[in-house]
Amino acid sequence: MDESKPGRNLPIDNPLMLIDGELVESESKRRFVSINPANEEELGTVPEGSAKDVERAYEAAAAAQPEWAALSPAQRGATLRKLADALHAQRERILVTEVMDTGNTIAKMRGDVGAAVSQLTYFSGLGYELKGDTIPATPGNLHLTVREPYGVVGRIIPFNHPIMFAAAKLGPALMAGNTVIEKPSEQSPLSASILAEICAEVLPPGVVNIITGFGKEAGDAIVRHPKIKRIAFIGSVPTGMAIQRSAAEVAVKNLTLELGGKNPMIVFPDADMEKAVPAAIAGMNFAWQGQSCGSTSRLFLHADIHDSFLGDLAARVSAMRVGDPLDEDSDMGPINNKGQFEKVLHYIEIGKEDGGRLVAGGKRPQGKQFEKGYWIEPTVFADMTPDMRLAKEEVFGPVLSVFKWDDLDEVLAVANSVEYGLTGAIWTRDISTAIATARRLQSGYIWINGVGAHYPAMSFGGFRNSGTGREEGIDEMLSYTEEKAIHIMM
Ligand code: NAD
Repeated sequence: MDESKPGRNLPIDNPLMLIDGELVESESKRRFVSINPANEEELGTVPEGSAKDVERAYEAAAAAQPEWAALSPAQRGATLRKLADALHAQRERILVTEVMDTGNTIAKMRGDVGAAVSQLTYFSGLGYELKGDTIPATPGNLHLTVREPYGVVGRIIPFNHPIMFAAAKLGPALMAGNTVIEKPSEQSPLSASILAEICAEVLPPGVVNIITGFGKEAGDAIVRHPKIKRIAFIGSVPTGMAIQRSAAEVAVKNLTLELGGKNPMIVFPDADMEKAVPAAIAGMNFAWQGQSCGSTSRLFLHADIHDSFLGDLAARVSAMRVGDPLDEDSDMGPINNKGQFEKVLHYIEIGKEDGGRLVAGGKRPQGKQFEKGYWIEPTVFADMTPDMRLAKEEVFGPVLSVFKWDDLDEVLAVANSVEYGLTGAIWTRDISTAIATARRLQSGYIWINGVGAHYPAMSFGGFRNSGTGREEGIDEMLSYTEEKAIHIMM
């Protein structure tokens, strides 16, 4: 990699954790390495948070919570806007750190930093929606409900959108009057340490605590903490299920789980092909190396347009520019980490063995710059059938599976046959067909003649094993409250 280009040096010197307003090492003094996936070189080290650190964070968060909750919604909102402004002011530093730590392309990652700021701002204005109801349960008396914060909440985050998940989603928890302990992924922990610096400056001590570390220790300590009743998890289905089990061993907890997807995009013969072909590429999130939960990784093409669509798609995917994620012109960077890289290669082999027809990619790109690092070409398999593993299991990599269909009942049965139900896309010019199909698709977030985008105030979340709970809209903030009924007898 060319060291002379700007932005090559990691813009954070000594990443630390945040406990009780202080930037700290782990009590064990242990640190772990974060690797640059573009060249496998060490980027930096971060503290390896332990169960003892989580306990300290809990004590700080519990001590800070009553005062934080006692602020008016307007005061909490003003503080969140300060946090958003401080993030915005440091956006370039965060962006370069994110790109180097995740491998996600800079052009796309810029949107994540922006989304963190805009979601915090959105939630900062929602405080007066923390309202209850009055209910005419009996004549003459007054029956009402109020919403109260849980207290200390735990948040556990995956590797793919680190700053967006770490920063934006503080908004609803804090706005509802909670204090937070947050753990980023061990695979991309660096931007959370910049967030820690910003929170140390902007927030009262203890309101947000950030513990870098591994799932098995720091994550597990959050999940099993007997006094942390509300936990928000974003990550894979197996970890989500493990967290449900662990949590249930210690207490009755409220968990929201935002998990994986194997999302369908169904193209009808009357779709606008000029838009639908690029949409299939955008929806697959090749620009994130396929590492986005909402990726439409199963593409169902009607038989009438299958061959021409597939030919165009394969040509465009083969022409994508894989390269340095810090280069504004790169369409796709490296896979985030070694384990994920090996998983993707394994699924490509499975796809071939099961009889999928490789029409684009399928291997490490050629060239000196790709000899080191977790590089894989954007990959498309055609002739997929529902029984194949690649057709139903989440790869979380740049591998698109294409199916041919000609019967709507059948394609919907296949689309709904996997364990997931996160997103879906429908492409047709016929509005009745579009709406009827959307109603039959068992997914939580559906685009008609669109893909990928998330929209302000629209709740996002999955059916079936894709999760439980909704985020990004007002429901997310309300999910950080408990409802209390009060009866006033006249
Ligand atoms: P992962 O499940 O491996 O890890 C996620 C987080 O959980 C990490 O911080 C990890 O340290 C922690 N963790 C691991 N084991 C734990 C345990 N036993 N107790 C507590 N914490 C533990 O997920 P990943 O590989 O980082 O992310 C990829 C997955 O996330 C994909 O399945 C993807 O679809 C999903 N995802 C879902 C959404 C959504 O909104 N639905 C968004 C992004 C990613």
